[in-house]
Amino acid sequence: MSESRFKKVRTRIAPSPTGNLHLGTVRTALYNLLFARYHGGDFLFRLEDTDKERSKEEFTNEILDGFKWLNISWDDPSSEDAPEGAEMTGLSEGHIVKQSVREAIHKKYITKLLSEGKAYKCFASKEELDEMRAKQQANKEIPRYDNRSRNLSEADQAKFESEGKPFVVRLNLGADRDILWNDLIRGEMSINTKDLGGDPVIQKSSGQVLYNFAVVVDDFAMQISHIFRGEDHLSNTAKQIAIYEALGFSVPEFGHLPLIFTKDKQKLSKRKHGDIASVDTYKKQGYLPEALVNYLVGTSYNDEELGELFSIEEAADEFDIEAVSKSPAIYDIKKLNWYNREYISKLDYADILNNCAEFSKFSLKTTDKYSQDQIEAMLKGIQDSLDKFDEVDIHIDYFFEDFSVVEDKILKTLEDGKIIVEKLLILIDADGINFADPVSFKNALNSVGKILELNGKKLFMPARIAISGKTSGPDIGLIAHLLGEEKIKERLKKIQDKLTNTV
Ligand code: GLU
Repeated sequence: MSESRFKKVRTRIAPSPTGNLHLGTVRTALYNLLFARYHGGDFLFRLEDTDKERSKEEFTNEILDGFKWLNISWDDPSSEDAPEGAEMTGLSEGHIVKQSVREAIHKKYITKLLSEGKAYKCFASKEELDEMRAKQQANKEIPRYDNRSRNLSEADQAKFESEGKPFVVRLNLGADRDILWNDLIRGEMSINTKDLGGDPVIQKSSGQVLYNFAVVVDDFAMQISHIFRGEDHLSNTAKQIAIYEALGFSVPEFGHLPLIFTKDKQKLSKRKHGDIASVDTYKKQGYLPEALVNYLVGTSYNDEELGELFSIEEAADEFDIEAVSKSPAIYDIKKLNWYNREYISKLDYADILNNCAEFSKFSLKTTDKYSQDQIEAMLKGIQDSLDKFDEVDIHIDYFFEDFSVVEDKILKTLEDGKIIVEKLLILIDADGINFADPVSFKNALNSVGKILELNGKKLFMPARIAISGKTSGPDIGLIAHLLGEEKIKERLKKIQDKLTNTV
C-alpha cells in the first residue's frame, strides 16, 4: 500500500435502508472489513438514511439483524484526532453513524462552498430544463445540464431570491478536466468532468442535501481512508472526488468491486430475481452464516494459499486486495450449497441438534418416540446429506410418520424387489434379525442377496424404498434399528400388499 494521507486505515459499509439486505452489500462489507482488519485498522458502519421517503425502519432492522446473524460487527467511529470541523454527531447505540442526524453539518459545508463561489444556486425551472434537454436531443446531443446558471449576475440572483424562486445548489466543476484515480481493483481510472451530466446538484430545492455530497462530508468526518464499493458507483466516485477537492479534503483511495451477476449475465437484483438477492432468505432456509460469508468472499477472491474454506479471521490475516478479481462475480447456488454442506459436516452434534430442531416440524428435543441417543444417531446419519437445514424433514420424516409409495418408478423398482421384501419378512418372522443391533438388518439383507444372487443397488434400493420411501439416506441397518421390528414389519407388509394388488 502506498504511503497514505491518513493516520490509520479506516473503511466502512454504508447501506441505505431502502430495501432488504442484499448479498452484494454483505460482500462489499466483507471486503472492507477484511482490508481494515489486515491493516490493523477500523471498519465502520454508516446508515445512509437521508432519503426520507424511501428509508424504512423495517429495512434498518433487517440490515442490522442480517449483519448480526453473519457475525459482522464494526468498530467505534469516534476518534481522538478527528479532522477539524468534523463533528461526529449521529452516533447511536451500536456505533452506528446515522447520516440523517448529520444534516445540519452537511448544510454547513454547502454554505461554505456557496460563500467561496465553488457552488452556486441554480434557479432554472423544470420547464426551462425540459426545454434545454429537448433541444439537446433534437441536436442529437447527450442531454446534460449546460451549466447555464454558473455565471448568474449578482443582480439576477438577488432578484430571484427576493421573489422566493426555488433553487437547487450545484457544484461548479470548472473547466473540463479528467478526474483521475488509481483504483485498487480496476487500476488507473479517468473520467472527464464533461461526462458527468453537467454541474451536479448537491442540494435539492427542498433543502435536502444529496447523497454524493453527504457521503463525502461523512467519509471525511469518519476519516475513511479506503472505500471499497460496487462498480455501479464509478460515476459517483468522479463526482465525489470533485467534491473532496472543492472542500479541500484529502481524497481517500477507492476500489470498485465487480457486481454479482446471475449465470444469464443479469445483475442480481431483487426486482428481477426476487428473494435470492436477500440475505434474509438464506437465514430462513437454514444456511450457516459462515458458509454464506465464505461463499461471498470467494466469489471474487482467489488466494491459493488460503484455499477455498476460510473464516473471516483467517481471510483477514492474509487478505490481499490484489487477489480480488475485477471480473463479474457469478451467483451460483450449487457452490453456496457446497460451502454449506462443508460447514454443516463440520458442526458439533449440539449445533446439529439445535439447527435441525429449529427447522423441523417434529419436536426433536422432546419426542417420546425416540431417545435422545437415537435422535443423535438419526441426525448424525443425515448430517452429510443436508444442503441446508430447512431440508431436514425431507430426510427424517419417515422416522416419524408413514408414507405411501406411489410413484411408478418406485413401484417398478419394488416389483423387481418383491422377492426381497418377501424374504425379509420370512426372516423377521423367524426371529432372524436382531433390531437392537444396528448392523443386523444389513447383514440379513446381504444374506438374502446371496440366496437371490443380487447385490449393490439391486438389492439395497428396493429394501430402502420399502422401509423409508426414499432412494437415499443413512445406513439401512441404522434405519431399521431406529424404526424397530414392528414398524419395519408393518412397512414391508404394506408394500407387499400393494405389490400383490397392483402388479
Ligand atoms: N448508500 C450507498 C449504497 O447503498 C453507499 C455507497 C457507498 O459505499 O458510498 O449503495
